[in-house]
Formats: sequence, C-alpha cells, structure tokens
Amino acid sequence: MNSIHQKILIITAPSGAGKTSITKHLMNVFPQLEFSISAATRQPRENEKDGVDYHFMSLDDFMHRIQQKEFAEWEMVYEGKYYGTLKSELKRIWSHDHVPVLDIDVKGALHIQRQYPENTLSIFVQPPSVEVLKNRLESRGTETEQSLAARVNKASYELSFKDHFDKSILNDDLDKACKEAVALVDEFLKN
Ligand code: 5GP
Repeated sequence: MNSIHQKILIITAPSGAGKTSITKHLMNVFPQLEFSISAATRQPRENEKDGVDYHFMSLDDFMHRIQQKEFAEWEMVYEGKYYGTLKSELKRIWSHDHVPVLDIDVKGALHIQRQYPENTLSIFVQPPSVEVLKNRLESRGTETEQSLAARVNKASYELSFKDHFDKSILNDDLDKACKEAVALVDEFLKN
C-alpha cells in the first residue's frame, strides 16, 4: 500500500456549523475523496437511506460490534444515540485507492487523530456564533425543542476544542469557507 491508502480527512464541528455542506463541496471537487458511512443507532430521517447516509443499526448490534473491536472510534454523540466509524469502512475506501472523509463529532475526531496521527488532516468548522448555529438548526427543521437544546448545549462545549485540530475554518460565509477548505485539502492530497 502506498501512502494515499492510509490518508484520512476529518471534517469536524459542532452540529449545525455547516460541515456537511463543506464536506459535500469537497467531494465534488476531489474525486479521490469518498464519504465514510458511519454506523448509527438513531432513527433514519425521512429522506435518509440505510447504507447511504448511515449504516443504521440496533443498539444491540452496535454494542456487539464494540465488543468485537470493529470500530476505529465510536461515541454516544447524543443521549442514548451511538455513532461510530467502522474499521471495515476505512479499509473499503482505501481499497478503492480513495481517501475516506469522516464527518464526525469532535470527540470522535480527537480519537481518530490520536490513532492515525501520520496521514490525517483534521479541519474544524467554526460557526460564527452559538446564536447563528441555533438559527441554522431551527431552520433545518429536523429537531424537536428538546433535541435542539441538547445540540446547542453540546455545540457550546465543542467550540472549546477548536485548537486541538490541524486547521480551523470560520464558516461566516459558506463560499469563502468552501474555498479555504479546498485549498487545505488540495495541499493535503498532494503530499
Ligand atoms: P446527525 O444525527 O445530525 O446525522 O449527526 C449527529 C452528529 O454525529 C454529527 O455531528 C455527526 O458529525 C456525528 N457523527 C456522524 N457519524 C459519526 C461517527 O461515526 N462518529 C462520531 N464520533 N460522530 C459521528
């Protein structure tokens, strides 16, 4: 295996900071990037598909896979809701000569960074403020009042981890943030 097989790109941020839009943009620009489909125990949203957006699974199945050491990292991202990166998913992407893109939460990102320090680029996407982030989540319309509050609380905490990552991008303007991300990833893929 040459070094491109081992590369990992992590895009992390508090929920609602715009990391999914930036991730999608990067995947359109760089054909060698491939989205890492996480395992998750939450219910699929209306237009989500199993095996495309997530590998949706029961809590029992998820716990079994933890015991079998099948995860590169996993986290209880929200109360009772588990998310994780399967080692088999990274291997599948590397076997295509592609670079996995992990759109994961801050703690999961820290774990991956620690485990794969050599060939990993981690980008932290920073929302302009917690207030803006709350408005974005509200207008997305996918949250209940309770889950919105949980996401906003978690976001405030996660913002404090900004300096633990290789690079950070302020997403006050999506076009600008996408351009910055493209420049960083271009450099990463070249080396
Ligand atoms: P959502 O429920 O909105 O799809 O995702 C909630 C959060 O879980 C997002 O911040 C997302 O990045 C994170 N997430 C998705 N997959 C993983 C994963 O495999 N591991 C970790 N640690 N977080 C994940």
